[in-house]
Amino acid sequence: MTLDLLIVGAGPAGISMASEARAAGVPSARLLVLEKASEHSFTLKKYYPENKLVIANYKGFEAVCTGVLCIPDLSKSDTIAYLDKALQENDIPVHYGETIHRLSKDPVAQFFSIATDKWDYKAKVVVIAIGILGKPNKPDYRLPRTLSSKLLFDVTGTEMRGVNVLVVGGGDSASEYCQYLAQQGNTVTLSYRRDTFSRMNEINHASLLSLAERRSVRLLQGSDIEGVKEDGGRPQIQFAGGSQETFDYVVYALGGATPENFLKMIGIEFDGPAPVMKEGHETSVPGLFLAGDLSAGSKGGSIIWAFNSANIAMRKICDEYLGCVVPGRV
Ligand SMILES: Cc1cc2nc3c(=O)[nH]c(=O)nc-3n(C[C@H](O)[C@H](O)[C@H](O)COP(=O)(O)OP(=O)(O)OC[C@H]3O[C@@H](n4cnc5c(N)ncnc54)[C@H](O)[C@@H]3O)c2cc1C
Repeated sequence: MTLDLLIVGAGPAGISMASEARAAGVPSARLLVLEKASEHSFTLKKYYPENKLVIANYKGFEAVCTGVLCIPDLSKSDTIAYLDKALQENDIPVHYGETIHRLSKDPVAQFFSIATDKWDYKAKVVVIAIGILGKPNKPDYRLPRTLSSKLLFDVTGTEMRGVNVLVVGGGDSASEYCQYLAQQGNTVTLSYRRDTFSRMNEINHASLLSLAERRSVRLLQGSDIEGVKEDGGRPQIQFAGGSQETFDYVVYALGGATPENFLKMIGIEFDGPAPVMKEGHETSVPGLFLAGDLSAGSKGGSIIWAFNSANIAMRKICDEYLGCVVPGRV
């Protein structure tokens, strides 16, 4: 059977894309979401600290929803529960633990052939909603392999309590990691190469400064790291200027990047570092769309951006490919 819509990635963008499709009348049986991880919303589960407040107007995006999904400020668990409910109530089929290997479009029959590690599918329209954190950004110096359990990219995979942690980064994630690690009774230092924290939202900026004032976090602004060495099984940071300091753990909060190789491999053209995107977040391949962080450009996305991007894409998909109707439209 040829699916109407195949969505790759079950995060906020993929789940809202499928919810939009259901609201526009696409039957469950003609819709499928493929998720590489064993559970949905893997980015939220892995990268958000447990006590995190999920902010609706993240990165300055106005918290105005145009589609069927919408959230106010919520806890991490309530945000995940909301997405869980959207999947269940909209009867959305998700295949977990499945990774896409190939995607091509039949120029005559005009459908996509998709091969995963488990199965082959055909679909009229495909939406890629895999986010940017499949491969978190790494520093440009070498990270010794022997320290891989001490050099981290999230704060949920390793229990850290009462230890000496260096956080590297200057955005919201860096501030949230500092807040979380300080609450867990760790000695926390933040290293940021710039002098001012211009990329943080007001709440995270104020929380960080207040922690610094109370000496719960030590701030190293304008600090450049040149490398990391092993010191008795622990990471020793080599700062520019010749000083060194050893920590129990280093947590990098450097964001993520567009998975350029994957998008190029499935035929999407690029204009410089960004994928070519047309009206409705359609790529250079007709019928192949991007949603969520992948459609947000260099500023990065938010959950509400992901929800709204799905609504925008669905309008184009209904108009041009599936003949469906997005609710709320005149
Ligand atoms: C630490 C941190 C804090 C944040 N705080 C906030 C906040 O407070 N408020 C807010 O609005 N936003 C916040 N964000 C941003 C927000 O999480 C993202 O904008 C949002 O998750 C983007 O949704 P997405 O569905 O595009 O991508 P993701 O959430 O990254 O979801 C992508 C999904 O695709 C899956 N996937 C990846 N590769 C493949 C593949 N090849 N095949 C199949 N599946 C794949 C992943 O496992 C994942 O489940 C934060 C981000 C971080 C990292």
